Amino acid sequence: MRRVARRFERADRYRLAGRTGFVSDDTEQTALLGQALALAGPDDSECLRRFRRSMVGWLARLPFGIGGATLRSCVRMMLGLARPGAHSAGNGASMRAGILGVHLAHDPERRRRLGRSLASLTHTDERAVQAAMYVAEVSALCALEDSPNANPATLLSRARAVVEETELGAAIDQGLALADDDAPFPEVVRSLGNTGFVIHSMGICTYCFARCGEEPITAIEAAIRAGGDTDTHAAIVGGWTGALHGAEALPPALVGRLQAGPFGASHLRGLAEALATETPPPRWSRIHALLRNLALYPVVLAHGFARLAP
Ligand SMILES: [Mg+2]
Repeated sequence: MRRVARRFERADRYRLAGRTGFVSDDTEQTALLGQALALAGPDDSECLRRFRRSMVGWLARLPFGIGGATLRSCVRMMLGLARPGAHSAGNGASMRAGILGVHLAHDPERRRRLGRSLASLTHTDERAVQAAMYVAEVSALCALEDSPNANPATLLSRARAVVEETELGAAIDQGLALADDDAPFPEVVRSLGNTGFVIHSMGICTYCFARCGEEPITAIEAAIRAGGDTDTHAAIVGGWTGALHGAEALPPALVGRLQAGPFGASHLRGLAEALATETPPPRWSRIHALLRNLALYPVVLAHGFARLAP
């Protein structure tokens, strides 16, 4: 956490490769899920089938930073196993669940049913499944028409109702209680934990959104500064703030410098438009996405080696 705080004090510009912003696996899987939702319409099994096929394609494009459980489940999907999910309590199912909540904000029953099935495709540990349902639930409550005036902590407390798992519920409660407290941030992170275990991540995301959710960039910066699975924490908290305040609340300078092509700003806007208007999602080039991954490998490796430096 200290290393992240030292190197990335503010989220005011991109730092991976020059001034261009690149999305990570969280956003790519969110977009693939959005595409499956748009193409499947009201048919749940069609949505699951399409998302499953997209995940196999995603793995074939050699993504960097893939989680162990997602890797195992994608391989099982490739082999055609009926139940490909891995018994893991990582963040993979939660990090992509926000879009489901926004899309099905007015249909709680389908949101929870489909949310459980989509999570189980990659993660079968009940803590990971319920965390994904919680992420979708918060997004849904944020997206409802009367929510812009709502307090983020109130929305989180309401969404907490979908969590029955004791350990996960306790982490969310702790995140909410700490947000009410004035404890120093490093102390908050130490008590919540930041290992990439879904229980720790839900505590961190809950704290950041409850404490700073009124100001999107402040909440996202806090999620990054907490360390651990930083891109996932930032993606989840960023999704919640986006659902609550709208895309306009994000700094235009950052949105404007996002990569072009697949999973770039216009692709994502087009996808959001397609979901909102029930029209076909934008087409994009798989080859272009593969070439982008290959081109970024040296950059990602260089950052990895730089982290080893004292
Ligand atoms: Mg991550």
